[in-house]
Amino acid sequence: MGCSIAIDGPAGAGKSTIARRVAEELSFIYVDTGAMYRAVALYLLENGTDTEKEGEIARDCKNAAVSIQYQDGEQQVLLNGKNVNALLRTEEVSQMASKSSPVPEVRAHLLQLQRTLARENNVVMDGRDIGTVILPEAEVKIFLTASPEVRARRRYLELKERGEDCDEEEIRQSIILRDVRDIGRAVSPLKQAPDAVLVDSSEQTVDQVVEKILQIYREKTERP
Ligand code: C5P
Repeated sequence: MGCSIAIDGPAGAGKSTIARRVAEELSFIYVDTGAMYRAVALYLLENGTDTEKEGEIARDCKNAAVSIQYQDGEQQVLLNGKNVNALLRTEEVSQMASKSSPVPEVRAHLLQLQRTLARENNVVMDGRDIGTVILPEAEVKIFLTASPEVRARRRYLELKERGEDCDEEEIRQSIILRDVRDIGRAVSPLKQAPDAVLVDSSEQTVDQVVEKILQIYREKTERP
């Protein structure tokens, strides 16, 4: 079993930026589980699955073979053998991932892949249920959050930098909608594990948050 750092939290809290940096500092691999849910969502969209029918999502998700590889330290998601990394970050895929991820068959479909990665490697894994369901024995658990306004602002700036046309208020609404679905679902809802440390990044820089997590890791794993 490798050493695991679980980072959960709502959309846009900065999980991937922070988790990637922490992984780099510790020479762990970074596992982005959201990208796996996005790959299943992409499959369902391309397949024309009726997303209003849970039974169809439950049936069709089984045909989405998701695996990951690393290229220059970056996680690459393969969907039925094809690298789909470049297709996962659209608003359509975000919304579809948040609609399909509550379906128990979708979660069961990805659980083994996530647990196997943590068994075979030292990982920093981010998502919604890593500390509560996927890796309840993780050495370090962080619940990373920030206010909806700050999360929307960061996402807006990120999209603008990429040259994408976007509206900050629309982004805020979309983030809140995803939060409501992730928190309210029956299976593996987004919630802080009792033994997770709450980190609010609203008023902190990336460097500060990374340092805080490294400090928590050292305290938990180094003997006095
Ligand atoms: O983290 P990211 O925004 O890429 O995740 C996309 C969607 O996948 C989330 O809105 C959430 O519904 C789902 N997800 C999940 N459990 C995880 C990771 C992501 O349900 N561990």
